[in-house]
Amino acid sequence: MSNPPISLSFELPRRRMIEKQLMPAGIQSQHVLDAMYHVHRHLFVDPPLVARAYQNSALPIGAGQTISQPFMVARMTELLKLQGHERVLEIGTGCGYQTAILACLCQHVYSIERIEILHQKSLQNLLKANIDNTSLKCGDGRLGWAQYAPFDAIIVTAGGFASDIWIQQLREGGVLLMPEGEAGQHCLVRREKKATGIQTSYLDDCSFVPLLSGEEYG
Ligand code: SAH
Repeated sequence: MSNPPISLSFELPRRRMIEKQLMPAGIQSQHVLDAMYHVHRHLFVDPPLVARAYQNSALPIGAGQTISQPFMVARMTELLKLQGHERVLEIGTGCGYQTAILACLCQHVYSIERIEILHQKSLQNLLKANIDNTSLKCGDGRLGWAQYAPFDAIIVTAGGFASDIWIQQLREGGVLLMPEGEAGQHCLVRREKKATGIQTSYLDDCSFVPLLSGEEYG
């Protein structure tokens, strides 16, 4: 298939998002900026919201959930310091946008979503975006994904408290990144699993949709 006309590929809004939002806000990694430019965010939002796809805001994706604002997606990705060879576990696939950004920067992304309709939507979105180095499943991400463990990195895109299982499923030297805390007052926390124990850094204040247990069908 030939490329869409330039206006439909949102070339200018994508470039503006990089130059006017992400770079001034402190995103420095060229790899991350390139991935944010390369992945078409408008493919991951519902048609009525397409015109707002490159604003620096979270947007509804259905089932009461949101796609994170571009800055937070870039910031979390940058904090993982991916080199390209990693296998990453994501908890909270949502519409699949963060999954797509990670997929550009590592070897393979395993992603779990607890809401069936969003799981289905993310499969379609990643197909539209031509991203094929991902494995997705519907389930409770708090249980991790033992079949593919250990992971080089685990990223959680819903706010709450870390599950011990994630630390167990991280390889030594691996990183767990998640918004921790009670609803409405999360702090982005980076935990690195070292031979001597866990090294923890408390980073930005933020607010995410809640990490919940179990699955949701329908
Ligand atoms: N990264 C997503 C953000 C989606 S919001 C995106 O770019 O669109 C966070 C998602 O986490 C929601 O879809 C929510 O349903 C999901 N979630 C919450 N608790 C979960 C759990 N225990 N396991 C898997 N997914 C979970």
